[in-house]
Amino acid sequence: MQKIAVFPGSFDPFTKGHENVISRGLPLFDRIYIAIGYNSEKKSFFTLDQRLKMIGKLYQNEPKIIVDHYEELTVDYCKKIGAQYLLRGLRTAADFEYERAIAQINRKMNPDVETVFILAVPEYTPVNSTIIREILKYGGDVSQFLPDDMIIED
Ligand code: ADP
Repeated sequence: MQKIAVFPGSFDPFTKGHENVISRGLPLFDRIYIAIGYNSEKKSFFTLDQRLKMIGKLYQNEPKIIVDHYEELTVDYCKKIGAQYLLRGLRTAADFEYERAIAQINRKMNPDVETVFILAVPEYTPVNSTIIREILKYGGDVSQFLPDDMIIED
């Protein structure tokens, strides 16, 4: 059976930290869906379309990666596409507390989906989409925090 994982997130924007989780997740799974959790009531910095394009272009030559979005419970999305794993990254103790609750609740809702955590590498631990959005808002240069091959969509 194919091992299918979902890496869910806002990816607003997708950073070097996310890229590192994906590159370390790739040998573990046959397919990874990078799935943007879309919430029409939540305002984002990059539109859904921009995020889909930016991440899609980054992985256009990686056949194991599918870039998608969903607007439902993450476990329902996993069921729909046949994923048995949820991939998440852990940076700090704060991430751990947040992720622990989500993973335990998701497991209650669907015990067939196992959450797998990848610990951030030290150099990317401070890389955080919220801080990057703040820098972008004031016109700062965020290129060192974004994947080298990523092109920002206007
Ligand atoms: P969410 O809105 O679900 O928190 P994010 O896009 O911020 O989504 O992050 C998606 C996942 O990537 C989360 O599990 C988050 O902890 C992880 N992540 C974010 N930044 C990093 C990083 N620098 N290193 C490792 N994991 C990260």
